[in-house]
Amino acid sequence: MGQFLDERHVELKRRAHAWADAPGLESEEDARVLVAKLAESGFLRACVPAAYGGLRDKVELRDLVVLRAALGYRSSLLDTMFAMQGLGSYPVTLAGTDAQKQALLPRVVTGEAICAFAITEPEAGSDVSAVATRAVRDGDHYVLDGEKCFISNAGIADSYVVFARTSDDRHRGLSAFLVDGHANGLTTEPIALIAPHPIGFVRFRGCRVPASALLGGEGEGFALAMSTLDFFRTSVGAAAMGMAARARDEAIARVKARRQFGKPLAEFQATQIAVADMAVDVAASTLLVLSAAHRIDVSGQGSSVDAAMAKLYATEAAQRVIDRAVQLFGGQGVVAGAIVERLYREVRALRIYEGTTEIQKLVIARGLLR
Ligand SMILES: Cc1cc2nc3c(=O)[nH]c(=O)nc-3n(C[C@H](O)[C@H](O)[C@H](O)COP(=O)(O)OP(=O)(O)OC[C@H]3O[C@@H](n4cnc5c(N)ncnc54)[C@H](O)[C@@H]3O)c2cc1C
Repeated sequence: MGQFLDERHVELKRRAHAWADAPGLESEEDARVLVAKLAESGFLRACVPAAYGGLRDKVELRDLVVLRAALGYRSSLLDTMFAMQGLGSYPVTLAGTDAQKQALLPRVVTGEAICAFAITEPEAGSDVSAVATRAVRDGDHYVLDGEKCFISNAGIADSYVVFARTSDDRHRGLSAFLVDGHANGLTTEPIALIAPHPIGFVRFRGCRVPASALLGGEGEGFALAMSTLDFFRTSVGAAAMGMAARARDEAIARVKARRQFGKPLAEFQATQIAVADMAVDVAASTLLVLSAAHRIDVSGQGSSVDAAMAKLYATEAAQRVIDRAVQLFGGQGVVAGAIVERLYREVRALRIYEGTTEIQKLVIARGLLR
């Protein structure tokens, strides 16, 4: 992988794996505790630029990728809490004024500000341009009204980047706002998923935010959302790759130990073929993810197509690998609390959020046919 990562990323990867191995971290289900632990570890510094307490001059995708793969290997909730600190602050890094950056980014690193990114609505999922939440200018304030759903960290976030409509133009009518999680007129309601993940509805009823909460200019919200998602999509692939690598390792250990018909499962050719298929899926995902991250960080040639391919392939491959691992475990694979059972539930959402598999295919095809 040397052609994609330099020593800094390799060292970060080594530290992240060693840290995430700590007893108790994998089973911790309190999202706030995990953010505090991530803050203590210093890894949240990878989410913001050095000028605001971050690790590098600019946020590097290769840092996010090695960290998400290492965290995802141990706990998908740990990975989610890390990723949301990045996703929910990156629009501020990209488009915020110095005052907005000073107010938020150092608190992202210390874990004092838990972040959220709010686009999705009941009638605006894959079609982001259908966002109906309105932001109406009233003197030196905007007044927000509308409903968001499937918002990660709803209810625990201190800071929401909210995409709302300031005019009727489908794309250029969207603007982004930095909204305090404790603002009057903002309420939340949890949604229970198949795996641990703080998520829910966020409702705005006459929620007044100062005009200084506008991120970038009016009408720049759609482009800002797409730039943020383009950047983070590759890292979703990395999280999937980490989860798949864990399933592969668990399955290899199991088939060496488990005996049937007088010998270890590992000695049956059908098992060997399954293990080989898993290994190839993990290796191919790793190459796509690292090459996309490298192209986006370094060469400036990286594009939406690279990010979409990495996310699409790695999340679909992780689902295959984890399903094979469950099969190799037999009945033990579906016992509640087994590692592969947990991975089986946790990996599913990755093919849906930050753009479904089908939407990634549209991004790839449009990029190539343009
Ligand atoms: C765990 C989780 C966390 C999330 N976190 C956040 C968050 O923090 N912030 C946020 O804003 N959102 C978040 N989301 C929402 C997520 O981004 C959306 O669920 C996703 O974009 C899909 O939208 P939808 O659920 O409305 O599905 P729909 O858009 O209704 O899609 C349903 C199906 O139709 C397919 N489809 C849609 N359009 C097309 C098309 N043109 N061609 C072919 N097929 C199509 C889709 O691929 C999918 O299979 C999260 C979702 C989940 C599950």
